[in-house]
Amino acid sequence: MPRSIRSRSAVRSSATCRTQNVPIFEETDVTEVVADGDDWLVLTPVGTFKAGHVIFATGYRPAPLLDTHRIELNRSYAIATNPIPDFDEWAGQSLIWETKRPYLYLRTTVDGRIIAGGLDEEKAETPHSEALIQKRAERLRQEVEALFPMYDLTVEYAWVALFGESIDQLPFIGEHPDRPHLYYLLGYGGNGTVYSMLGSKILSELVRGIENSDARIVRLNRTR
Ligand SMILES: Cc1cc2nc3c(=O)[nH]c(=O)nc-3n(C[C@H](O)[C@H](O)[C@H](O)COP(=O)(O)OP(=O)(O)OC[C@H]3O[C@@H](n4cnc5c(N)ncnc54)[C@H](O)[C@@H]3O)c2cc1C
Repeated sequence: MPRSIRSRSAVRSSATCRTQNVPIFEETDVTEVVADGDDWLVLTPVGTFKAGHVIFATGYRPAPLLDTHRIELNRSYAIATNPIPDFDEWAGQSLIWETKRPYLYLRTTVDGRIIAGGLDEEKAETPHSEALIQKRAERLRQEVEALFPMYDLTVEYAWVALFGESIDQLPFIGEHPDRPHLYYLLGYGGNGTVYSMLGSKILSELVRGIENSDARIVRLNRTR
């Protein structure tokens, strides 16, 4: 039998979930998901949950029980600069996206910094070398400086992340083709946050047995 979990310290609630009395367990690894009749058991270090429906929204980590061979993982670099006194020369502080390869994107933050990213590399792991991250960060800084030479730019934060894309640039959203009541919301592609919003609507309908005409496009077992 699944152990009932009531640990107050492990339970956090976002504003919406709080109003619905939904417990949230942060920093809790799901180690395995196994069938239990028509239900699923979700195994974690703090106990086992029994669920009628399970949705995996695991980002770019390998999704449990799903073949993800149509996915390419690359790594991408980003920086945040020092705060800039004003952006008078930056028309409308618009988001900038250079589509050449390697691409470059830039935007400003509410505290006046510039976030810039790009320099993607076809590697499915992040580098262990801090020196390499700093080197790429300096290149990004120079790219920003070439566009905005009037700013005095230093790199205050630099990071690297894995970035996943599907072969057809579409996300994988839907029910597992062979395992009823297991769902996936995997927003592979450059518009991942948009896919997440779309996927939350599609999945909430599928779970409730409501037909969704977009679900066919992003289904897990599409071949093209
Ligand atoms: C460098 C970079 C730039 C991006 N730029 C853009 C952009 O410009 N526009 C855009 O729309 N999208 C962009 N994305 C994509 C966007 O960030 C993702 O699509 C989005 O964050 C996915 O949200 P998510 O909640 O599905 O997954 P995530 O935010 O990745 O969260 C998944 C969570 O699942 C947890 N998890 C995984 N496995 C387990 C497990 N076994 N047990 C417990 N927890 C687990 C992880 O720890 C993580 O917290 C970018 C991504 C990267 C890396």
